[in-house]
Amino acid sequence: MRYSKYFIPTLKEAPSDAEAVSHKLMVRAGFVRQLAAGLYIYLPLGIRVMEKINRIIREEMNAIGGQEVTMPVLNPAEVWQQTGRWDVIGDEMFRLKDRGGRDMCLAMTHEETMTWLASHDLRSYRELPQIWYQVQTKLRDEARPKSGVLRTREFTMKDSYSFDKDEEGLDRSYQLHLEAYKKIYSRCGIRFYVVQSDTGMMGGSMAHEYMAPSPAGEDDVALCDGCGYAANTELALSSPKQSATSAEPFEEIATPERRTIEEVTRFLKVTPDRLLKSILVMTEKGPVLALVRGDQTLHEKKLAKLVGPHRPAQKDEVKSGLGVPAGFIGPMGHKIRKIADPVLKEGTYIAGANKEGFHVKGVTAAAHFSDAEFADIHTASAGDACSQCGKPLRIEKVIEVGNIFKLGTKYSVPLKANYLDEQGNEKPIVMGSYGIGPARIAAAAVEQGNDKDGIIWPLSIAPFQVEVIPVNVKDQPSMDAAEELYAALVEKGFEVLLDDRDERAGVKFKDADLVGIPYRVIIGDRNLKEGLVEFKERRTGMVEKIKVAEVVEFVAKRIVMESV
Ligand code: ATP
Ligand code: MG
Repeated sequence: MRYSKYFIPTLKEAPSDAEAVSHKLMVRAGFVRQLAAGLYIYLPLGIRVMEKINRIIREEMNAIGGQEVTMPVLNPAEVWQQTGRWDVIGDEMFRLKDRGGRDMCLAMTHEETMTWLASHDLRSYRELPQIWYQVQTKLRDEARPKSGVLRTREFTMKDSYSFDKDEEGLDRSYQLHLEAYKKIYSRCGIRFYVVQSDTGMMGGSMAHEYMAPSPAGEDDVALCDGCGYAANTELALSSPKQSATSAEPFEEIATPERRTIEEVTRFLKVTPDRLLKSILVMTEKGPVLALVRGDQTLHEKKLAKLVGPHRPAQKDEVKSGLGVPAGFIGPMGHKIRKIADPVLKEGTYIAGANKEGFHVKGVTAAAHFSDAEFADIHTASAGDACSQCGKPLRIEKVIEVGNIFKLGTKYSVPLKANYLDEQGNEKPIVMGSYGIGPARIAAAAVEQGNDKDGIIWPLSIAPFQVEVIPVNVKDQPSMDAAEELYAALVEKGFEVLLDDRDERAGVKFKDADLVGIPYRVIIGDRNLKEGLVEFKERRTGMVEKIKVAEVVEFVAKRIVMESV
């Protein structure tokens, strides 16, 4: 490809609202443009990266017996109504009506339509198992589209679905995906963790997420270097250190106008772990009191698993429900459901006194909230003990680049995707669902591979493998050598960008650093007179002078070495 004829609109400045490094660099280096919130245009360089990622995905999916299909983006409401998700999913689903007034939606995932297909075309145990996949467009009206291509309203997803006779079959299909996914991310050159995750709106019994460490990530994972435990903090279990408390008499203390943990700790000159936080939440079945230690954060999703959807109570609801002004709730007395974090089983705490302007000390589980259910509802934090081995946990920010779910029969039952077993009995097909976000792989690669000058692509997903840069295009011998090298490298099957622009060397080198092609061959007139060119590696900055006649072989060797 010739740079002069290729559309690579690089920019000096990043968009003013861009925070994530990948957002800034992918726009500046001419890979993408934002049309509107969460809607991105992929430019020629961006397309090349996406196609490489998708090729790797397809190869690994085919290798486990996956068969590519494609589902319509526009879906009739009926299939979604049959599984109940038409009502369960809220504003995230784009809905519309066709000219006949029929309800339609833009698919945000394809469990429904894939299961519909299975219900019509799979009949016998002899046809199972099946793995069907697609690399296709999804639409989601995300609440906060942000961070460039990491969270968009329209995006490509590789989604696959497995159809098995029974749980053992599902285990096998799940395991195949688990391993295929590891290969995909490794081949794409990104660092990742496989972590246990919540099954969320997909339903089902088991789920894992593939998480690429990056400060731009919106998820947190808890990792244990001791035993390898790795889980999304949405469900990570951990034991915080017990705080050093000693028995104290139960006694009121005046804390006028001190409501928050910060205000109370400062006023009483104690650390937050001496306090007990009582948080009233409203659920569909009435109010629930959640109790966590003062230094802990209540994890909404952990609590939601126990009490269902909920929201924090408003001040007047606290007053009318408990008869206590907000900020002074204690765990004592209230005849409502209470859920306490297990760390509170031991120790003596300071809590609200259920009375305006007062707290109480000497609060213990045995004496004051023995009627509470104990369940891990805190957010795991760094240094908490691992629930499996007791070693300290680490917390890392990550990008979710993919996930796998055991669905069981959640979709096959309502959509009547049944098969006849060996005995002629009709049984529901047992399913799994597996997603990958190719754009997130690209962005994660940029998050993990960059420096102050620009992107450093992994070779496997770089838009080109080699960039040939004649420093002065007006110097005929340089240009002749560049053309010759370009032709020879292309002939060998390499992907080469020839920067044939009549630009200053500084401009070309800056753009080359920004775009981030792994290898560069620089042809300068002085070196050329000695029969030499410069070979430069983007990642290390290493420069080597090599003989013109040996360039092709040298580059080929490097690429082969890097590719294994
Ligand atoms: P998240 O929790 O980040 O919203 P999700 O759990 O909604 O992700 P899935 O519905 O399981 O994601 O989709 C499968 C994969 O598709 C995700 O692992 C992710 O890589 C990708 N993906 C999901 N939502 C988006 C989005 N809005 N933009 C880009 N990629 C996405
Ligand atoms: Mg989502």
